[in-house]
Amino acid sequence: MERDIELAFIKLHVLHHASHDDVFGLGLIEELASHGYRLSPATLYPLLSKLCQHGLLRQEARVIGHRQRKYYRITPAGDALLKKLRHKVRDLSRELLDQP
Ligand SMILES: [Zn+2]
Repeated sequence: MERDIELAFIKLHVLHHASHDDVFGLGLIEELASHGYRLSPATLYPLLSKLCQHGLLRQEARVIGHRQRKYYRITPAGDALLKKLRHKVRDLSRELLDQP
Protein backbone atom coordinates (compact mmCIF):
# COMPACT_ATOMS: atom_id res chain seq x y z
CA MET A 1 0.00 0.00 0.00
CA GLU A 2 2.86 2.38 0.79
CA ARG A 3 4.16 1.79 -2.74
CA ASP A 4 0.75 2.57 -4.25
CA ILE A 5 0.72 5.95 -2.58
CA GLU A 6 4.36 6.60 -3.46
CA LEU A 7 3.66 5.86 -7.11
CA ALA A 8 1.11 8.66 -7.18
CA PHE A 9 3.73 11.03 -5.70
CA ILE A 10 6.22 9.82 -8.29
CA LYS A 11 3.79 10.58 -11.13
CA LEU A 12 3.31 14.06 -9.72
CA HIS A 13 7.07 14.58 -9.57
CA VAL A 14 7.41 13.46 -13.17
CA LEU A 15 4.66 15.81 -14.36
CA HIS A 16 6.13 18.65 -12.34
CA HIS A 17 9.65 18.25 -13.75
CA ALA A 18 8.37 17.64 -17.28
CA SER A 19 6.50 20.93 -17.02
CA HIS A 20 9.81 22.79 -16.54
CA ASP A 21 12.15 20.87 -18.79
CA ASP A 22 12.57 17.92 -21.08
CA VAL A 23 13.20 14.92 -18.85
CA PHE A 24 14.63 11.47 -19.50
CA GLY A 25 14.49 8.19 -17.63
CA LEU A 26 17.86 8.07 -15.92
CA GLY A 27 17.67 11.74 -14.96
CA LEU A 28 14.30 11.15 -13.34
CA ILE A 29 15.56 8.08 -11.48
CA GLU A 30 18.39 10.19 -10.02
CA GLU A 31 16.12 13.12 -9.23
CA LEU A 32 13.60 10.89 -7.49
CA ALA A 33 16.39 9.13 -5.57
CA SER A 34 17.35 12.51 -4.13
CA HIS A 35 13.83 12.64 -2.68
CA GLY A 36 14.18 9.13 -1.23
CA TYR A 37 12.25 7.24 -3.91
CA ARG A 38 13.90 4.09 -5.18
CA LEU A 39 12.81 3.41 -8.69
CA SER A 40 14.06 0.92 -11.26
CA PRO A 41 13.85 1.46 -15.02
CA ALA A 42 11.40 -1.48 -15.06
CA THR A 43 9.01 0.62 -12.99
CA LEU A 44 9.73 4.04 -14.45
CA TYR A 45 9.50 3.32 -18.18
CA PRO A 46 6.03 1.70 -18.05
CA LEU A 47 4.92 4.62 -15.88
CA LEU A 48 6.23 7.10 -18.47
CA SER A 49 4.50 5.31 -21.32
CA LYS A 50 1.28 5.24 -19.36
CA LEU A 51 1.48 9.01 -18.92
CA CYS A 52 2.08 9.28 -22.68
CA GLN A 53 -0.85 6.99 -23.50
CA HIS A 54 -3.08 9.22 -21.43
CA GLY A 55 -1.87 12.26 -23.35
CA LEU A 56 -0.18 13.87 -20.35
CA LEU A 57 3.37 13.57 -21.68
CA ARG A 58 4.78 13.38 -25.15
CA GLN A 59 7.87 11.50 -26.07
CA GLU A 60 10.61 12.53 -28.42
CA ALA A 61 13.59 10.44 -29.42
CA ARG A 62 16.83 12.34 -29.85
CA VAL A 63 20.23 11.15 -30.87
CA ILE A 64 23.06 12.37 -28.68
CA GLY A 65 26.45 11.24 -29.90
CA HIS A 66 25.72 7.73 -31.08
CA ARG A 67 23.05 7.04 -28.54
CA GLN A 68 19.36 7.54 -28.86
CA ARG A 69 17.59 8.85 -25.81
CA LYS A 70 13.89 9.31 -25.19
CA TYR A 71 12.89 12.67 -23.81
CA TYR A 72 9.56 13.53 -22.30
CA ARG A 73 7.76 16.84 -22.01
CA ILE A 74 4.40 17.73 -20.54
CA THR A 75 1.44 18.30 -22.89
CA PRO A 76 -1.24 20.99 -22.45
CA ALA A 77 -3.52 18.28 -20.98
CA GLY A 78 -0.75 17.29 -18.56
CA ASP A 79 -0.27 20.91 -17.61
CA ALA A 80 -3.97 21.34 -16.92
CA LEU A 81 -4.02 18.23 -14.75
CA LEU A 82 -0.91 19.34 -12.87
CA LYS A 83 -2.53 22.70 -12.10
CA LYS A 84 -5.61 20.96 -10.77
CA LEU A 85 -3.59 18.54 -8.66
CA ARG A 86 -1.39 21.31 -7.30
CA HIS A 87 -4.42 22.73 -5.51
CA LYS A 88 -5.22 19.35 -4.05
CA VAL A 89 -1.64 18.82 -2.89
CA ARG A 90 -1.60 22.25 -1.27
CA ASP A 91 -4.87 21.56 0.49
CA LEU A 92 -3.84 18.09 1.61
CA SER A 93 -0.41 19.13 2.84
CA ARG A 94 -2.00 21.95 4.82
CA GLU A 95 -4.24 19.42 6.52
CA LEU A 96 -1.56 16.76 6.97
CA LEU A 97 0.94 19.21 8.39
CA ASP A 98 -1.71 20.88 10.47
CA GLN A 99 -1.18 24.37 9.16
CA PRO A 100 -3.96 26.93 9.27
ZN1 LIG B 1 11.22 16.17 -7.90
